[in-house]
Amino acid sequence: MTDLVVVGAGLYGLTVAERCASQHGMNVLVVDRRPHIGGNAYSSVDPDTGIEVHEYGAHLFHTSHEGVWEYVNRFTSFTDYVHRVYTTHRGEVFPMPINLGTINQFFRSALSPDAARALVAEQASELGGRAPQNLDEQGVSLVGRPLYDAFIRGYTAKQWQTDPRDLPASIISRLPVRYNYDNRYFNDTYEGLPTQGYTAWFERMVDHPRIEVRLGEDFLTPPGQVTKSTTVGQVPVVFTGAVDRYFDDAVGALSWRTLDFERDVVSTGDFQGTAVMNYADTDVPFTRILEFRHFHPERDYPTDRSVIVREFSRFAGRDDEPYYPVNATTDRERLSAYRELARAERGVHFGGRLGTYQYLDMHMAIASALTNVDQVAALRV
Ligand code: FAD
Ligand code: UDP
Repeated sequence: MTDLVVVGAGLYGLTVAERCASQHGMNVLVVDRRPHIGGNAYSSVDPDTGIEVHEYGAHLFHTSHEGVWEYVNRFTSFTDYVHRVYTTHRGEVFPMPINLGTINQFFRSALSPDAARALVAEQASELGGRAPQNLDEQGVSLVGRPLYDAFIRGYTAKQWQTDPRDLPASIISRLPVRYNYDNRYFNDTYEGLPTQGYTAWFERMVDHPRIEVRLGEDFLTPPGQVTKSTTVGQVPVVFTGAVDRYFDDAVGALSWRTLDFERDVVSTGDFQGTAVMNYADTDVPFTRILEFRHFHPERDYPTDRSVIVREFSRFAGRDDEPYYPVNATTDRERLSAYRELARAERGVHFGGRLGTYQYLDMHMAIASALTNVDQVAALRV
């Protein structure tokens, strides 16, 4: 007998399933419309080269949350990979996020931290002390006009296909600016990649006699055996698909950005010398190139071939994979209406990135699932 149906085998669904089975002794059925578990964090081995490729864009695990770090280490160990990103602007490569190295290279200077701060403050003075109202103003106030125009304006326009003056300031608040030469991308205490790959990690999470996984089944579209019409009201459900789709777009569709990935196997053992190279200028159509071998320097990969992926960003159409919530004003209004509908849906818990229409990093999806698991175990139909 099934005690709980979990729709979506991403990290939110997997964590809920694992905890409900192990901690609450529940029989859990996990369904996903894709042919694999792991959601967007899924990776596979490229057949030509043996290189592990993150199928839905680069996924770097990082967290400062002790409970999450302890939890994930039950299923996998992590390498000591530290993420660093570079960006190409007008034919020159600079370190990201913007740090003293970027500033001194850009201005052909040898400024000290204090001198760099003073220069940026002067170049940010056009706001006249006013609080930034949008991403454009936030960018200028963070790094000053010249650095903003070089490294943020074009990249953001490509990434969001929206004038930065129409985007919320919060999008780049998570991008640090450092007045020293530290060019680590993340500030978290723990960081690394799963030693044996993402799939081995996820398989260990569902390796439990009380967990059954069914792949290739869409919960919202018949003829699946486990669908909304056959399940809701009969068995408690955790739904981690898109909340608007669950309610058949009742108050309108929420907008998302999607990504297109163009993959190539190139005949060199090292294409760009680093895992992620951003392209800041708008005359280059893609936002970045990923070279997957660099995520695992400890592995014995071929020395004459490499896998690269160019990433293009655009608004998602009805049939595209939703990746990043756009969160425009209409979206926020619709979201509160969906939240009301979700609260009234007896026996169904909405969670994860799609279910809550929130950008969640992996550690945030896991933390949220760990917090909500008791509430899920108490669901009644
Ligand atoms: P998902 O992983 O999206 O899982 C949802 C699952 O539900 C999917 O497998 C989907 O097929 C399934 N589903 C949806 N609808 C249905 C339906 N109707 N029926 C059946 N199944 C359904 N996080 C980091 O920590 N570090 C990173 O570097 C990082 N990089 C990212 C890069 C990109 C391009 C993206 C998009 C995300 C990135 N993330 C990163 C975020 C990470 O992917 C999420 O934290 C994680 O996916 C959240 O898990 P989830 O379970 O909420 O959602
Ligand atoms: N960003 C930028 N230039 C860069 C990298 C990031 O302008 O070289 C901005 C851009 O608006 C982006 C945001 O910072 O959307 C967050 O970047 P991050 O790398 O965290 O996220 P992602 O690229 O996955 O959206």
